[in-house]
Formats: sequence, C-alpha cells, structure tokens
Amino acid sequence: MDVSTLILGAGAAGMMCAAHAGPGVLVIDHAKRPGEKIRISGGGRCNFTNLHAGPENFLSANPHFCKSALGRYTQWDFIELVARHGIGWHEKTLGQLFCDGKSPQIIAMLQDEMARAGADLWLRTSVAGIAHDGAAFRVAVDREGAREVLRAHNLVVATGGKSIPAMGATGLAYDIARQFGHAVTETRPALVPLTFSDKRFAALSGTAMPARVTAGGAAFEEAVLFTHRGLSGPAVLQASSYWREGCEIALDLDPGGGLLDALRDQRQRAGRRKVETELARHLPGRLVEHLAPGLGLSGNLADQPDARLAEVVGALRNWRLKPAGSEGYRTAEVTLGGIDTAGLSSQTMMSRSVPGLFMIGEAVDVTGWLGGYNFQWAWSSGWAAGQAIRVRG
Ligand SMILES: Cc1cc2nc3c(=O)[nH]c(=O)nc-3n(C[C@H](O)[C@H](O)[C@H](O)COP(=O)(O)OP(=O)(O)OC[C@H]3O[C@@H](n4cnc5c(N)ncnc54)[C@H](O)[C@@H]3O)c2cc1C
Repeated sequence: MDVSTLILGAGAAGMMCAAHAGPGVLVIDHAKRPGEKIRISGGGRCNFTNLHAGPENFLSANPHFCKSALGRYTQWDFIELVARHGIGWHEKTLGQLFCDGKSPQIIAMLQDEMARAGADLWLRTSVAGIAHDGAAFRVAVDREGAREVLRAHNLVVATGGKSIPAMGATGLAYDIARQFGHAVTETRPALVPLTFSDKRFAALSGTAMPARVTAGGAAFEEAVLFTHRGLSGPAVLQASSYWREGCEIALDLDPGGGLLDALRDQRQRAGRRKVETELARHLPGRLVEHLAPGLGLSGNLADQPDARLAEVVGALRNWRLKPAGSEGYRTAEVTLGGIDTAGLSSQTMMSRSVPGLFMIGEAVDVTGWLGGYNFQWAWSSGWAAGQAIRVRG
C-alpha cells in the first residue's frame, strides 16, 4: 500500500502532525487507543500547555533548537484550538492550563482534527522493519496477524521516549534515528521522584510542604512531598531533570525567608515555648521531629541566642541531601535527551541527511519543565513538521 505520509505514533505529536500534514496521511500505533499519555496526564485533566511557555523552559543540548517551532505554533494557538472545540479550561497555578473536564476531550479534539484532514489511524499495529528503497520508505507492519509493507514518501517518527514502558513506551524512535545515521544524546528519566537507599523519609511519607529545591544550578519553588522511597512533589520532579548521580540537591524549607524573624518575634512573646513546638508552627510537625536530633534542638525559645536561631534557620534553608537514584522510567513523566537536534532542521523537524524523514515530540532532545511544557513541544514540533510536509507533498 502507498501513502504520502506515514506517521509512527498516535500520541500528542503524531496526532497534531497528522492534522496538519495535508492529504494521504496514515498514522499507526501499537496501542489499543490513541493518546494514552494524554489520557493519564495532569491527573486526568491534561495540563495541555502553559501560559508562560518559552524556550527557557526546555532542556536540550542546543537550547536554541526549540525556538522556531515554539515561536510559530504557540500556546495561544493551542488555546485557540481548544476554545474552537468548546473545551473549557482553567489556570491552576504558574500558568498551567488544565481542562475543566477530562483529558479524553483533548484526544477527541485531536482525532476530530485528524478526521477533518482525512488522516487514517491504524491501532494495534506494530513496526517490524524500516528501509528506504531510494525513492520511498518501506515500512513492514504487523496488523491483525498479518504482515504488510507500506510505502511512504514521508516518514514521521513520533513514538515518544522511554518513560512508562508499562504504557507502551519503547526506544523505537532512537533505533530508527540511529538506523538512518542520526546521533542520539544520552537519555535518562526526568520529572521523576528521587530515592534514597536507606528509606530515611519512610516515617514522613505523605508529608508535603512548600520549598525551594536546587539541583545542578537550577532552582524550583513549589511543593515537596516526602515519600516512602524518598522525595517527590513538583519542586523535586522539576529539579530531577537537572540532578545527576553522585550530586547533592539543596532544600530551602523557608523559601519565603520569614522564619528567622518569626522565631525572634516569638522569643519575645512566648519565650517559654519549646523551639521544636515553635518550629512545628511553621513546618510540618513530623518533619521537625525528624530534623530535631540533627539540628540539636533543645530548650525553650528564650534559651536561644540570635546566633543559635540563625544557625538553625540557616540549616533549614540549606538542607543538603544526596539522593541514591530516581524511580526511573517506571514513573518518569518524560525522557531527557534523545534524537540529537544537530541532525534536524529546527524549522521543519526534517532530517538534514535523509529527505522526507521527520522526528518530532519527546523522541527529540528537547525536554520541557513540568507544567504543560512537554505537550506544548509536542504540539509545536508536530505542527512544524505538518506544515513542512504539506508544502513538500
Ligand atoms: C503520567 C504522565 C503525566 C504527564 N502529564 C503531563 C502534563 O500534564 N502536561 C504535559 O505537558 N506533559 C505531561 N506528560 C508528558 C507528556 O505526556 C509527553 O511529553 C507527551 O505525551 C509526548 O508526546 P509524544 O507524542 O512525543 O509521545 P507519546 O505521547 O508518548 O506518544 C507516542 C506514541 O507512540 C506509540 N508507540 C511507542 N512505541 C511504539 C512502537 N514501537 N510501535 C508503535 N507505536 C509506538 C505509543 O503507543 C504512543 O501512542 C506526562 C507524562 C506522563 C507519563
């Protein structure tokens, strides 16, 4: 069978591309349903973009690569699309936009856009092999127990990264990229909880608080969650993208910076209150209990000279921890690294060496922060490839 454009992967990027790539598009996916990650995203409400999305919210060996696509198909374009489909949304925090309803609305919207563009979708279809015969791509696929060879003028790799293999993530995109001579940068789990080998926070499991977490030179101020295995919560997930094995992270448990003044003030008003009791008015009690021995907390507020209070607060504002590892691809929201952008055009997402081969979405070495940025990259890169394919034919 001949198609103009074959898109591998009916995820966020693949569906967006299919809606814009012109006639003769076939999308294939080995899953039972399209857009499974969209379905589970944002706690079921899909954090589909971010009002503040810009190139500075992305990690890549080439931080400039994402600029063109993000600048040409912006968060405002996607918001307009969502509005056109009558999907209600709200800003939760920090510019993060979520559906008022459920995330399948976004999947239905993309399927509708694909159908309008005349794109076909084959599910439960897996890729058995890919070749280029000099004129077109030849892709062997297995579907309903039979093997079939598809010939395509354009081939779009949109099979995502390695995160959550239980949901069908594979390294296929990297294998295809290498097969056609493209480099793949080091890949690692990102937006992922960090773990400690001694389960030191098990007793605090479920405790959450606002904090500023610094790793690898980047700092994020949001909630931190103590878990049975270590640390999670948005601030830690964000920092995980910058953390490397063997390195420390630093937690500032007083990100607003008012704790020292508050302790001094209470020393005047309630000097007979125990330091621990007063700290537990500002931090979760179980955390104060956990930290008390290390901080050498004892006595009443009135017993603590200024220097001692400053020492305690200083330690709380620079709590240094060395995670043993992360929870890995099993729970990581994204894969950091991927297909080297040096081999791709930032305008079109097309390979510089293999005309007609496009790579988009999470498979590419462009990774967003937590908060709707990764979907925005999927929409923008999918759109950019779609436009280029429509022109190329
Ligand atoms: C739990 C969770 C929550 C998330 N929440 C958010 C959020 O709220 N906001 C946000 O911006 N980002 C979120 N993300 C990240 C976001 O889901 C991804 O960045 C985005 O889905 C990437 O889009 P993609 O199209 O490149 O890849 P995917 O959406 O992963 O799509 C890839 C498609 O390729 C198919 N595929 C893979 N391998 C093969 C193969 N060998 N053969 C055939 N088909 C294959 C898959 O079945 C899948 O349909 C979340 C991720 C997770 C895991």
